[in-house]
Amino acid sequence: MQNNEALLGKTQTELIALVKDLGMPGYVGKQICEWLYKKHVRSFDEMLNISKANKQKLSSAFDIGFTDFVNVQESVDGTKKYLFKKADLQFVEAAYIPEKERATLCVSSQVGCKMGCLFCATGKQGFQAQLTAGEIINQIRSLPERDKLTNVVYMGMGEPLDNLEEVLKSLEILTSDWGFAWSPRRITVSTIGIIPAMQTFLNKSEAHLAVSLHTPFDEERAQIMPIQNVYSIKDVVNELRSWDFGRQRRISFEYIVFGGMNDSPKHVKELTRLLHGMRCRINLIRFHQIPGSPLPGTKEERLQAFREELNAKGLITTIRASRGEDIYAACGLLSTKEKTKG
Ligand code: SF4
Repeated sequence: MQNNEALLGKTQTELIALVKDLGMPGYVGKQICEWLYKKHVRSFDEMLNISKANKQKLSSAFDIGFTDFVNVQESVDGTKKYLFKKADLQFVEAAYIPEKERATLCVSSQVGCKMGCLFCATGKQGFQAQLTAGEIINQIRSLPERDKLTNVVYMGMGEPLDNLEEVLKSLEILTSDWGFAWSPRRITVSTIGIIPAMQTFLNKSEAHLAVSLHTPFDEERAQIMPIQNVYSIKDVVNELRSWDFGRQRRISFEYIVFGGMNDSPKHVKELTRLLHGMRCRINLIRFHQIPGSPLPGTKEERLQAFREELNAKGLITTIRASRGEDIYAACGLLSTKEKTKG
């Protein structure tokens, strides 16, 4: 548990200002950046080029901000779920998903979530807390497989754009030369479509964007995603149409398939109308049934047929592989289980 304010999660500008406040030269801030984000130290003692006196000053006012995971579960398919503790009874999870050519980490941005999507276990927990940029970065840097990572997706617990400032700060740390120096093309941020926050995100970051669509029909979407009553999917798509993304930035639409509910010919027709002419792709996701949910799962054959129907209409559509089902890799389930134990 941290007592002092954490250094992890601070930008280079913040670190320079902070050391100056402590009476040190600004370059010490740059040195700390290097130790935190390139050398991944866990203690002040490891910061070899910082004087003993300065280390003492720093450690009396700040913590590094590194916290280890408290639990890990491994699936038969190699997916791992890491559990991090934020505070008493407050947990978040990060899912590590190794594939042939890539290794992706799915990070959380909030403890719980206020958005109340009907299909989501995290939503059922309600909102508990925002994660700081440091707590988001910590999920990456404390990962034993950190050096194998090729991609990070903000698709764990929480709605990232409901914690915009901290998410943007974590993206700055991941993509700046003084930070992890990753290309923004290795990062995807998901959203259910909070338009004003989406505009800020698109302006300030170059990471890919994934929008949760799930059905093109207003009423049906409002039944499973309350956000539809505030920002309709049509408005979200219209907003995205007004941006020129160039060829590098990818916009995708996530579509959980609930068998017999949102995979009919009329859904294909309406999706074609909604996304006509847009340079985007649709990712179909098989629904992992969650305890107590009235929503139906879908069969593999149906999922494939639906993909083909959409592809035939010119919509580039892929099926996201289901991973880690045996360890409850569905959004929010691991931490729910941990909480109910407590
Ligand atoms: Fe929140 Fe995402 Fe779950 Fe909706 S799907 S309740 S936005 S975590």
